[in-house]
Amino acid sequence: MTRSLTLAHLYPDHMNIYGDRGNLITLVQRCRWRNITLRVQPVTVGASVDWSDFDLAFFGGGQDSGQALIADDFLRRQGEGVARAIEDGLVMLAICGGYQLLGHYFLTHTGERLPGVGVLDIHTIGGKNRLIGNTVLALHTPFPAATAAPSPSSACPAGTSYLVGFENHSGRTYHGARVAALGHIITGYGDNREDGKGGAVYRNTIGCYLHGSLLPKNPHLADHLLTLALQRRYGPSTALPLLEALDDTLEWQAHWTMVERLLKRVAKKRGERERTHP
Ligand code: GLN
Repeated sequence: MTRSLTLAHLYPDHMNIYGDRGNLITLVQRCRWRNITLRVQPVTVGASVDWSDFDLAFFGGGQDSGQALIADDFLRRQGEGVARAIEDGLVMLAICGGYQLLGHYFLTHTGERLPGVGVLDIHTIGGKNRLIGNTVLALHTPFPAATAAPSPSSACPAGTSYLVGFENHSGRTYHGARVAALGHIITGYGDNREDGKGGAVYRNTIGCYLHGSLLPKNPHLADHLLTLALQRRYGPSTALPLLEALDDTLEWQAHWTMVERLLKRVAKKRGERERTHP
């Protein structure tokens, strides 16, 4: 059986920074290696689409100015359809600016209020200084279908599943009761630099601040999204194995190199602090 999936790429012209497009390249290629067709349909300003056509969606990050250009179109033209689709299990990955616009609103650091579609119970307030750097979060629930390579050294506790990425945002995102945190921040700032939360999960939608590109060096997340989309389209009890294993040696090398480097840095800082303030 030839399997095919369709992905909506939201506002690729305005919402695509820090390598976000690499996430799509990863999804398309991981599908191609498994003989699955992944069709990518850009959803641009003014487009009219039927959200029931889509299995997946990707919404990348953008500058405040880019978000201001598309926020109104997203809310008025796509808001109802996208919210209904997410409630119905659409698989979505939203990064940074895209993540913010799935929430109730983003109040920028200059005081402009960009309303979001409110399907995620989050809101975002822009701060004066930007939160920038590499970041690692420990997942609260490892992705069920994915097998992670064992951690390469004692710097990375066994059994913990991580995501690694790069963040650059002024927005501080606060969670309401109707979303679960994707994970907690081991190093970096996370959603708001205050409560340690990193990203949010609601139904089959994941939002977070991790650019990078995120998916090339987090193959477990890429396969988790594809598994969910295949299950939604073809049913959970399909006789076929949903996703054939791939040789992810290079992907895991990229993942663990960054995780290990950043965790060692955290341990070193902790050691220095303990030496100066025993
Ligand atoms: N403009 C938003 C902020 O600064 C989102 C940034 C981004 O997508 N990297 O918070």
